[in-house]
Amino acid sequence: MSSIKAPRGVRDILPGESWKWEHVFSVTRKVAGDFGYREVHLPVFEHTELFSRGVGETTDVVEKEMYTFEDRSGRSLTLRPELSASMVRSYLENRMDKQHQPAKLWSAGPMFRYERPQKGRYRQFWQIDFEAIGSQDPLLDVESIELSLELFRRLGLSNLEVLVNSVGCPACRPVHRKALQDFLRPRLKELCESCRGRFDRNPLRILDCKNPACQAITEDAPSTISCLCDECAAHFDAVRKGLAMIGASFEVDNRLVRGLDYYTKTAYEVLSGELGAQNAVCGGGRYDNLAESIGGPHTPGMGFAAGVERIVLTMEEQGCSFGEPPRCDIFVVHADDSSLDAAVSALYDIRRAGMAGDMDYTGRTLRARFKTAGASGAAFACVLGPEEIASGKVTLKDLRSGEQQAVGRAELVGFLKTVL
Ligand SMILES: [Zn+2]
Ligand SMILES: [Zn+2]
Repeated sequence: MSSIKAPRGVRDILPGESWKWEHVFSVTRKVAGDFGYREVHLPVFEHTELFSRGVGETTDVVEKEMYTFEDRSGRSLTLRPELSASMVRSYLENRMDKQHQPAKLWSAGPMFRYERPQKGRYRQFWQIDFEAIGSQDPLLDVESIELSLELFRRLGLSNLEVLVNSVGCPACRPVHRKALQDFLRPRLKELCESCRGRFDRNPLRILDCKNPACQAITEDAPSTISCLCDECAAHFDAVRKGLAMIGASFEVDNRLVRGLDYYTKTAYEVLSGELGAQNAVCGGGRYDNLAESIGGPHTPGMGFAAGVERIVLTMEEQGCSFGEPPRCDIFVVHADDSSLDAAVSALYDIRRAGMAGDMDYTGRTLRARFKTAGASGAAFACVLGPEEIASGKVTLKDLRSGEQQAVGRAELVGFLKTVL
């Protein structure tokens, strides 16, 4: 019998990697503060309805990818596949509309989608999510885009490129939908099977099909921008002007429609990396009708999400710095059994003074303990044996230079603070 393994498509983030994640989170936290966003922690499961109504019944996420289950009371619950719907749910439920608008919120945590596992893509994956809820100001779209860019700049990602589009609103989207269907109808048979399925239910998604045959057919398809109503067109103009004003370079991409139904007006993606090998590192947009679709009053919002696995992978590929991994400062070594208590006491003095200390717990030989001290990456080994105890001192060995010196036991903590 073999031991139990983790389910397919999930992975453990181990110490060799988790410190890199911590770096991403700490940079994120700082950028969030600089842009006036406050952190929230939301539940990982919600009522299934929140996503079926909020994200959209005909999206791939809701149709094929949700982890939905009944709890013991027979309620249908779903592990969150994304965060925007939960953020808007929380905004409405906690009456954030009564506070200063917009509510600028961010969160990070695991999302769940039943997708085919592949490199950098998991069934439990982490996202960083930023949402500004309660304003339709196009400057908020600009801020959201610039926030994502600033985050990636500070993480050291290179060749950042913004793709932006407008997907319209309930007033102008039916115009585009009809124009698109009229354009595609004569060539319907040539589309891939999924796109033929999308033709009636969600023709917009045909524009972002990755199948080369579908891409060739939609090359000259009517763009969403060509069908925008006056309000959407003015909004898109203002977003482009705002981005130009702050010097953010961007390109309009007519194929950018995003996979979720709730997007209105602005949709965008940020790419990073060498041309031809670019990765999308975040995606977002405006969702002015999401609140209504989950039963709330009309509440505009704008936000983006970025996958943490993807960010870390892209940073590794680009050789970005993650800072320094955490390490032990001082490794305490007892020379023999009679000096163990004195060593343990020194170790706790070191830790209580806010320094990172450790010791060997395997009961091996002195030689082996020194080996562990060396492998720990500690700057110093603090050695205690019968001689040191008798003279009220410790031997401090610099593990890089090999130099040794005696330090009074009473002065140990103060001395270490000056040399670390
Ligand atoms: Zn419109
Ligand atoms: Zn297709």
